[in-house]
Amino acid sequence: MPDASPLLDVTDLSARYQRHIVALETLSLYVNEGEIVALLGRNGAGKSTALQAIARLLPARRGEVTAGRVRWAAEDITTATPHGLVRRGIASVLEGRHCFTSLTVEENLIAGTLAHPLSRRELRLRLEEIYHIFPRLKDKCRLAAGLASGGEQQMVAIGRALMAKPRLLLLDEPSMGLAPKMVEEIFTVLRQLNQQHALSILVAEQNSSIALRHAHRAYVLDSGRVALSGSAAALSQQEDIQKIYLGFAA
Ligand code: ATP
Repeated sequence: MPDASPLLDVTDLSARYQRHIVALETLSLYVNEGEIVALLGRNGAGKSTALQAIARLLPARRGEVTAGRVRWAAEDITTATPHGLVRRGIASVLEGRHCFTSLTVEENLIAGTLAHPLSRRELRLRLEEIYHIFPRLKDKCRLAAGLASGGEQQMVAIGRALMAKPRLLLLDEPSMGLAPKMVEEIFTVLRQLNQQHALSILVAEQNSSIALRHAHRAYVLDSGRVALSGSAAALSQQEDIQKIYLGFAA
């Protein structure tokens, strides 16, 4: 059940690319405060488009929202700017594990505060918080991010988003291209952030088994629509659904 006023409330969102390629059709979903919600579905189901539409980043991909509404704690943010969303507490890690490869790990983290510069002391404290969450990054803080492993680059991208102290993190395929052990480590950290810092998370994943293990609820997308939704525990029991919509036999 949605709270009386969910943190994020998406209603009947439709989106297209290049004016005619329909990627989302009347998508509705919500994220309550303190929830981890997964967006599942095969390749091309519309998961990334949904996150990009919420984050107001579709125009950079020649896409547009054509209908629907996005609310943040009851405020209409359908046409907010990406910066305005960060200011409200919505951070995103959407473009793969994008890092500035020639900057150091620490410089990448600092880049997460450029929109709202901090004092030297606040910056140091914030960095220490990120190093506490991802101890590997402290060891590699002076390394060029491009030389870090794929998993460490994913941690840098998440750490950079966390530098803005968000209430909601939008995350696209954090498992992409990573070894199972690293994927597990990243999801474990996401769950700790959720439990210990009340961070709400909307995460798109093709790796439905790990996402369902860590999420509270999930939506399964198919051709830009919600095909199914429910508690992660209930969805993970439904083997036929996994075969039909998620592309594997459980
Ligand atoms: P994947 O995991 O493969 O990215 P997805 O579920 O995230 O899959 P989307 O990337 O949102 O799916 O794609 C939804 C639909 O929109 C697909 O049919 C895709 O081909 C199309 N699409 C995505 N990006 C663009 C784009 N920039 N231009 C045109 N069509 C696009």
